[in-house]
Amino acid sequence: MPPVILKIALDVPINRLFDYLSGGFNAQLGNRVVVSFAGRNLIGIIVAISNQSDYPIEKLKAVSNVFDEVLIDSPSFKLLNFCADYYHYPLGQALISTLPLRLRQIKPAVSRKMFAYRLTENADMALVSPKKVVMQLMLTALQSKQEVTESELALISATWRKAIRELTRLNIVTAYEVTAVKASLPTSAVEPTLNVEQKKAIKCVLALTHNFKPWLLYGVTGSGKTEVYIQILQRVLSEKNAQGMGAQVLVLVPEINLTPQLEARFRSRLSQFPLVTLHSNLSESERLQNWLAASSGAAKIVIGTRLSVFTPMPQLKMIVMDEEHDGSYKQQDGMRYHARDVAMVRAKQLNIPIILGSATPSLETWFNATNQPADDQKTQQKQQYGLLTLAKRAVENAALPDIYCIDVAKSPTENGLSPLLVKALQERLTKSEQSLLFINRRGYAPVLHCNACQWVAPCTRCSARLVVHLSQKRLKCHHCGLEQKIPLQCPSCGNADMRPLGHATQRLEQTLQTLLPSARIARVDRDSMNNKNALTDLLTQVHNQEIDILVGTQMLAKGHDFPNLTLVGVIDLDGALYSPDFRAGERLFAQLMQVAGRAGRADKAGQVLIQTAFPQHALFNALRAQDYASFADELLQERRVMQFPPTCFFALLRAEANHFSLVGQFLNQALKIANDIKTDVMIYDPIRSQMERLKSMERAQVLLQANTRAALQRLLKEWMPKMRALPIATKVRWSLDIDPLEF
Ligand SMILES: [Zn+2]
Ligand SMILES: [Zn+2]
Repeated sequence: MPPVILKIALDVPINRLFDYLSGGFNAQLGNRVVVSFAGRNLIGIIVAISNQSDYPIEKLKAVSNVFDEVLIDSPSFKLLNFCADYYHYPLGQALISTLPLRLRQIKPAVSRKMFAYRLTENADMALVSPKKVVMQLMLTALQSKQEVTESELALISATWRKAIRELTRLNIVTAYEVTAVKASLPTSAVEPTLNVEQKKAIKCVLALTHNFKPWLLYGVTGSGKTEVYIQILQRVLSEKNAQGMGAQVLVLVPEINLTPQLEARFRSRLSQFPLVTLHSNLSESERLQNWLAASSGAAKIVIGTRLSVFTPMPQLKMIVMDEEHDGSYKQQDGMRYHARDVAMVRAKQLNIPIILGSATPSLETWFNATNQPADDQKTQQKQQYGLLTLAKRAVENAALPDIYCIDVAKSPTENGLSPLLVKALQERLTKSEQSLLFINRRGYAPVLHCNACQWVAPCTRCSARLVVHLSQKRLKCHHCGLEQKIPLQCPSCGNADMRPLGHATQRLEQTLQTLLPSARIARVDRDSMNNKNALTDLLTQVHNQEIDILVGTQMLAKGHDFPNLTLVGVIDLDGALYSPDFRAGERLFAQLMQVAGRAGRADKAGQVLIQTAFPQHALFNALRAQDYASFADELLQERRVMQFPPTCFFALLRAEANHFSLVGQFLNQALKIANDIKTDVMIYDPIRSQMERLKSMERAQVLLQANTRAALQRLLKEWMPKMRALPIATKVRWSLDIDPLEF
């Protein structure tokens, strides 16, 4: 009998598969195995099974164990193969990095039983002493909801298990097992009436559900995109295949703070279909359980962030990506994939439709949706995107907010605020309406400055300035985390008159407290929202009208509905208007549209006031007219002239090391090899990265620019193996970023 040879992918930085004998185990494609590799035991995945090996059979080792419980299906292999190839990343590392942590460990993937808790029928709360704080907190949580899960209890206190044991003993609480996939409780959610545009969008998509077809759902904030998704998915999910298996759908969302609202809507409207979520706020056992539910086909709806684009789903029939322009879809280390591009490939491989939704589509997507393919062979086979537009707000009478620029030259700011903006805040306060001030900088002030010698506090590890955090009396680097005390004297000249320069969230909060003493003000940034519940609690306060003014960073810009919020002030964003990053304008527009969307969502008209020194800037003109389409067309024209993506394709070779000379040597040697490769790709000379030093590492990069993806890939296929073989390649940290978002 010929030996069975398993081709195994391992989580090692070597770009090939490894041969092992099956050792008598009944191994199947996609199983996890345990192998000995370089003296260590590693988890691997069987990618192929064969009778042949390039190595002498007698030298091959046998696998030491096979876990048969998890199968990676062949469509998932196909997708990961594509990604490993396209992003030039070792297949084994790509494959294993997409698995839940529990599946990367050397043990069977038995998911632990999960419990939820509820009050017993005759629970006698008086048995718990008021001094037992943790137990009291648990009781409050249990009284507010029908059932409370382990992860919800874990958020309340680290000692929750002990408290629950005691409550169970007292017969106040009872536990019962829960599974990941349960259909949501049926609710009396009413189907909202759709406007003409929504109806049309749904009809278009439903007419073509059995083929690959990309759609751009371009809808202003509040135009009811979610309702369109829901009604489409309802139909898709209702279909069963010949074996009676129900369809599955994947809904991708950018960030965790968006998930709860969307999840709640999906659960109440699509309650008959089991739903699981996949994101980084889940515990590892929840993540495993949800992943298994998705890959077995039991969960019909998966709502997840970036990484969930790889989750095996045997009956996947449609992909929806909400807020497709969001930068968080791009992975910034390891395999630097873009979830939008991966989702597109996945939809194409499975021959299913994909809907990308946004109020401010990325220029990449806008380009694909608005440009007729040229008539050369290559683009002919490219599927034309369908463009679905929702230009009206879904709620009747809800007008789009009025957007004004406050020219800070004519109305100079005092402590960061123009008198016009203060007056508008005052008016809202009188009318008991809420306001939001958006400033994209946390801390007290961005710079500590010496008046005598102009010294500013630098980070010793990065080419960046330290940010003043006055309440903690510390200076912090927002790039590397370095912290130090605020010096009493200037380290350079000894002067004691040191001043914080500029504005950030804490300072603005303080200024507002002085100017509007009666206002109830809350600050939302990474410093104030440092635990999982903080943001949810604050949002509840806002909804209960316990807050008058919110001051915050982009954390506030996304997805939250505040019906009584009628004013949005925008402070200090001029830097992005003239940034060297060619995507800065696109991003700023998206961000401002999103913040503006917070104003006047219900039946109250909203107003947006932007403080700027450049009120005539084209971006503001487009924003005032709320005309993303012509702004995007103009940007595209610019990109065409400048030869920037999406009209061409970039890749970035980044390198860093303790000493700049090593970085220089590596990049120069890499360029030298490239000279011998015949290519049309433009390879630029090495330049320092925008952030020259980061965490004490010296950084530089080489930009590649190509007219087609194919030309870029051809060059890299030849270049990368030679680059990896350079002796100096082991002495620097380097990476290749295909379609980079940051420069
Ligand atoms: Zn000084
Ligand atoms: Zn730093």
